[in-house]
Amino acid sequence: MRKIIIAGNWKMNMLFPEVEEFLFELSDELEGKDLNSVDVIVCPPSPYLEITSDIANDSKFYVGAQNINENNNGAYTGEISAAMLKSMELTYCIIGHSERRKYFSESDEMVNAKLKKLHENCIVPIVCIGETLEQREQGITKKIILSQLDGAFKDIKINNNVVIAYEPIWAIGTGKTATPQQAQEIHAIIRKWLEESYKKDIAENVSILYGGSMKPENVKELLLQSDIDGGLIGGASLDVSKFSKMIEIAVEL
Ligand code: PEP
Repeated sequence: MRKIIIAGNWKMNMLFPEVEEFLFELSDELEGKDLNSVDVIVCPPSPYLEITSDIANDSKFYVGAQNINENNNGAYTGEISAAMLKSMELTYCIIGHSERRKYFSESDEMVNAKLKKLHENCIVPIVCIGETLEQREQGITKKIILSQLDGAFKDIKINNNVVIAYEPIWAIGTGKTATPQQAQEIHAIIRKWLEESYKKDIAENVSILYGGSMKPENVKELLLQSDIDGGLIGGASLDVSKFSKMIEIAVEL
């Protein structure tokens, strides 16, 4: 049975004094909850990873980074490595987010190199893929998704150590959510690709998250789809009451 994952991607938001307040409030919200069927992940900006980890140690959520550099270490000013995350005992790291692809020219080859580094360091990658509005309108969504998967997972062995996030770019931060049916259709394609590229039991174990304007109002319908195993949430994860509400809805499913 796949657990539901509710992951918050804070992106480049929040100031230091707000972080503690948010995380303590989240911890309080999680305190009395039965999280047997739900994993909660918070992915803060890297300066806040340490405090987030410290608070997570006494709470019921996991911590993820938003990106790593694909090199081991060295003269890459401003970057962080998978080994650094491992040394902080972090669990997850987002890679290939569409904003990284768009603003920092992150290619499928780079995502593949980052994935390898994360696996070498026992960090679970949350691999983001998704099509643009133009690509959807051209009817090439499936082709784009499959080629992103082929690129990101080239020569990668999977063994319960990866999460995939389908994030249609036209739905990210736009308020436009994919309908549950639109999202399910692509999630099923991803699951089929996993089965064909690996094995049926691997395909059944990998969590596939949806991302794109997920909020308390639409989370239930999306999570009810058979191949949607959770959400990667941007905007709504910055509001602790909305984020907690989504966790509550997931717990009650
Ligand atoms: C995201 O960037 O991962 C995301 C899904 O953002 P939002 O929820 O704001 O659309």
